[in-house]
Amino acid sequence: MTYFFEIYGCQMNIAEAAALRLVCGGRGWTEAARAEDADLVLLHTCSVRATAEQRVLGRLGQYAALKKKRRAGGGRFALVLSGCMAARMGGELKKEFPAIDYLMGPRERELFPRILEAEEGSFSAGNFPAGSGEAPSAEKPVFSFASSHLEEGQFRSFIPIMHGCDNFCSYCIVPYVRGREVSRSPASILEEIRLLASRGVREITLLGQNVNSYRRDGTGFPELLGLVAGELARQGGTIGWARFLSSHPKDLSLGAIEVMAANPCFCRHLHLCVQHGSNRILAAMNRRYTREDYLGLVSRLREAMPGITLSTDILVGFPGETEDDLEETLALMEQVQFLYAYMYHYNPREGTSAYKFEGRISGELKRARLARVIALQKKHTASLLKSRIGCTGTALIEGISRKNADELVGRTERDEMLVLPGPASLIGSFVTVKFSSLSGNTLRGTLV
Ligand code: SF4
Repeated sequence: MTYFFEIYGCQMNIAEAAALRLVCGGRGWTEAARAEDADLVLLHTCSVRATAEQRVLGRLGQYAALKKKRRAGGGRFALVLSGCMAARMGGELKKEFPAIDYLMGPRERELFPRILEAEEGSFSAGNFPAGSGEAPSAEKPVFSFASSHLEEGQFRSFIPIMHGCDNFCSYCIVPYVRGREVSRSPASILEEIRLLASRGVREITLLGQNVNSYRRDGTGFPELLGLVAGELARQGGTIGWARFLSSHPKDLSLGAIEVMAANPCFCRHLHLCVQHGSNRILAAMNRRYTREDYLGLVSRLREAMPGITLSTDILVGFPGETEDDLEETLALMEQVQFLYAYMYHYNPREGTSAYKFEGRISGELKRARLARVIALQKKHTASLLKSRIGCTGTALIEGISRKNADELVGRTERDEMLVLPGPASLIGSFVTVKFSSLSGNTLRGTLV
């Protein structure tokens, strides 16, 4: 039997899809190169942005047509809608697109082996206890973590450490679809690290909607970082370095910064979402920190780890945003000098508190403001990368360049993209590189 996954959204979805692939592989299913050739298609969806949802709606129409054609020819075809859209609107979608065979919300992953079983013909799909597609209840924060999230042939892996979010930023749908925070046990995280080390993995990323609020069995995030560093040391350097994502400025503690600084296995890069530079807008977003708090954290990080790079998310055009608010965001960007940023403009999401806020900004103005933010960020990225020319750094070689088969691509511990000439045998190795020039947003270098 064959499967095909179409994945939308964040790194958590990518990690979860890797775990689902392992379930398929474990049952003897193989991955099809195209949806048209698969017995089962899984759409792993995202509800964060309306555009991602709209794309999935379009795809559902196409898959409904494909299913009709396959069934008419006597073939089989099952369609699974999983992830955030299944939780947020699965019931409605199933009515609109009866071609959907199964719904599986973010907390219903344990249904997946039963879906495969049903498709293998072990029991009738008609009797299948399909996922409710309902948002999980706040009282029952149930989530089971898979034991491995390693994509076949990869030497980097995500390790989900927590799931869900309690923050309720006023623009964000995540807490409603993924539910309350649930942390994974430290023992199972360390077990996954050992498994990954035995498979030759070189880089891990601890993953969660809000990793800094990790807490389980009396272990908070700083203690977890200490345990992870200890385990990596025990593995004798097999897994060379670790990253973590996403950090919330209100929860990133000085303790976590200290542990990070004391253990060089943690890369000197941090993605710290600021979202906005105006205190008034940060309060309306319910971010629960001020620009001063954020800048204070940046100073602490840079004192503790000189040379650390920072990246961020920036959301412009929030209801009520004025020109002055935007200027404050641009000024904060000037001050911090982010290496890169994910920049987007606000789009109302039904079901969030900001949906009812007055003072919506017109589409034209939102796009114009976003363009100013993007232009400034481009300038900062170019200037930070240029300042690295002539320096040396450590990088993990990730693969062969798509543009030139004689060149390798990699990423430095500061999260800079890199191209350099070298043999394919270096893929998966840590190398020291001298940076010689800049090509777009990619550093070029040579092996030292
Ligand atoms: S911290 Fe805020 S933006 Fe991030 S997932 Fe939670 S509610 Fe959404």
